[in-house]
Amino acid sequence: MAARSAGQGGPHRRRARPLSRSEIMARIRSKDTKPEWRVRRALWAMGVRYRLHDPRLPGRPDIVLPRSRQVIFVHGCFWHGHEGCPRHRIPKTNSMWWEQKIRANRARDARVTEAVRAAGWAVTIIWECETESPEALAQALANVARIAFACNPGKGAPDRGASSHPPPDLRPLS
Ligand SMILES: [Zn+2]
Repeated sequence: MAARSAGQGGPHRRRARPLSRSEIMARIRSKDTKPEWRVRRALWAMGVRYRLHDPRLPGRPDIVLPRSRQVIFVHGCFWHGHEGCPRHRIPKTNSMWWEQKIRANRARDARVTEAVRAAGWAVTIIWECETESPEALAQALANVARIAFACNPGKGAPDRGASSHPPPDLRPLS
């Protein structure tokens, strides 16, 4: 019996080649969705409810707490250029292109933050690297939760009913 037979529905092997720029970008983008889940899960665990991606606000903030007028942006460290963070390293190839791209992202983030604040909302930025330790994440969100509860005294969880979007993964943190 032949050790290997071709054309029997085996997995197609893709030719090994370097990833294109758009493939790298797609990978970075899809990785960035996870930290947002961690933030939502932590808020949920703290009893804080929220809306997602409100298109009426500048920059469509990732998480919105309407009653306490707070928004949270969850930023990937690479993509949004987290200064001093080991995850923010410019690739050696096309480094000029990446630098320009990330500088533009940071400028846009600053404009968006300014616009949301000008509209009377408090803005909290959570960085991807902060979401990796439950303790660090809880600390980063403590102020958000405090304000949320303060704006809804004696009524249990703030912004209850605001969310029809529980975290996609309700497993406990860590
Ligand atoms: Zn970071």
